[in-house]
Amino acid sequence: MTATDYDLFVIGGGSGGVRAARIAAGYGAKVALAEEDRYGGTCVIRGCVPKKLFVYASRFGDEFEDARGFGWTAGDVSFDWATLKANKDREILRISQVYEGNLKAKGVTTLDTRAVIDGAGAVKLADGRRVTARTILIATGGRPSRYGDIPGAAHIITSNEAFELEKLPRRILVCGGGYIAVEFASIFAGLGVETTLIHRRDKVLRGFDEDLRDALMEALAQRGIKLVMNEALTGVARDGDSFHVALRGGGSLETDLVLSAIGREPATHGLGLETAGVRTGAKGEIIVDSFSQTTAPGIFAVGDVTDRVNLTPVAIREGHAFADSVFGNKRVQVDHSQVPTAVFTTPELATVGLSEEAARALGHTLDIYKARFRPLRNTVSGRAERMLMKLVVDRDTDRVLGCHVLGPDAAEIVQMAAVALQLGARKADFDATVALHPSVAEELVTMREKWVPAS
Ligand code: FAD
Ligand code: NDP
Repeated sequence: MTATDYDLFVIGGGSGGVRAARIAAGYGAKVALAEEDRYGGTCVIRGCVPKKLFVYASRFGDEFEDARGFGWTAGDVSFDWATLKANKDREILRISQVYEGNLKAKGVTTLDTRAVIDGAGAVKLADGRRVTARTILIATGGRPSRYGDIPGAAHIITSNEAFELEKLPRRILVCGGGYIAVEFASIFAGLGVETTLIHRRDKVLRGFDEDLRDALMEALAQRGIKLVMNEALTGVARDGDSFHVALRGGGSLETDLVLSAIGREPATHGLGLETAGVRTGAKGEIIVDSFSQTTAPGIFAVGDVTDRVNLTPVAIREGHAFADSVFGNKRVQVDHSQVPTAVFTTPELATVGLSEEAARALGHTLDIYKARFRPLRNTVSGRAERMLMKLVVDRDTDRVLGCHVLGPDAAEIVQMAAVALQLGARKADFDATVALHPSVAEELVTMREKWVPAS
């Protein structure tokens, strides 16, 4: 066998690539990682982390309002976008440096450059250098899809640019009905921006439990977000400092910023995949087997570039499992079947397992347990918003197939419920669990009445 420069060459320093590189190096592999932008990838630089910081910022308005019912008087409060952005940027820089430092501490060679596949067992760097490796891992992530086909598409920003805005607009139009659209609509509305969300279907968050979708839309509307459903953009034209947006239905609206969140696509363009026989699917995603092996020997792929479940903890798991399997002498597959997920709107929602609709489609006979209530805190604050808790239970086995929560701390609650579902908990196990009082989460172990649909 001819000697190679490295045992492992990782393309992409995001969630999946960094984890794989560190674990493989820990097993003694000689590893290099190329990152063309900043270490940490989407999640750290322009995804989960800055997004959650913005979510925190967007929720203080509620705190100031709710405090009044508890006897507090807050003086004049105001919000300064520049302060938030500068503090966000400082924290992101810190985390990115930690990512890079952790790689170096493990002995990984970091290359601040773009890298592309250059035939079997080789990559080409931006300066033209060719590097060889026994194994190559592609962890290049994804990028926002853009409207390519409508007049004025160049005026439309994506989530990438939303993190870098120099000033907060007075009005915003958010297009799409997925995670990013509803999260950003919520963030901007919470920061006082007049927010409209436009979506091509009648409801947001396709694939989530219908009750969650309905409850979220009700809450977003109550919070003043204008929801324009079954509509689409047909053009955007600049009009002085603002934009004139034409709609498919013949109407139009004026706004100061248009943000599209219409999905993301795998970052495989120009990656040289064809030079090594790495096959891709319809969206450009790299096709892999359950061990993240591509169609080319010695080349693996993890994370968003494979378009399996596009979440950070999943990319990390896939990267870790790859390193264990290839360098750690343990064959590990990632189970994608029961991944908990949250949408950080206000109120937030979180879910693990099957929606009622998915469970029925799979042929389960179900018992449904649902609670819709005003949390104790809201009784005194005067906030009308109600929480939703729902368990989807298989009638034959009593197994809890799905747990769905909308309301404050939904993500924190569902993370722990996910442990129970992972262990195969039955409804009887939830019932046998003593409630923690007073909490909102206790509702999950105190629901006894099966929900009966109104006839
Ligand atoms: P990435 O993190 O995208 O990393 C890929 C890296 O590869 C990038 O740094 C890129 O610069 C680099 N790269 C690409 N091509 C090359 C090349 N040819 N050479 C060198 N380097 C290259 N997930 C959650 O779990 N929770 C959340 O709350 C959440 N919020 C999100 C919010 C937003 C706005 C977005 C966009 C995503 C969010 N996600 C969230 C999804 C999460 O960010 C991704 O699933 C995760 O980052 C995928 O990790 P990855 O390693 O596959 O790719
Ligand atoms: P999603 O796939 O979640 O949603 C895309 C949305 O855009 C859907 O509502 C889709 O509608 C709509 N859409 C797609 N194409 C068009 C089009 N041509 N015109 C109009 N609307 C269109 O993508 P996001 O960009 O919101 O997020 C990407 C992924 O990143 C998420 O799926 C998730 O995996 C991850 N993410 C996770 C977060 C979290 O964990 N909290 C937060 C943010 C992102 P339709 O339903 O009709 O297809």
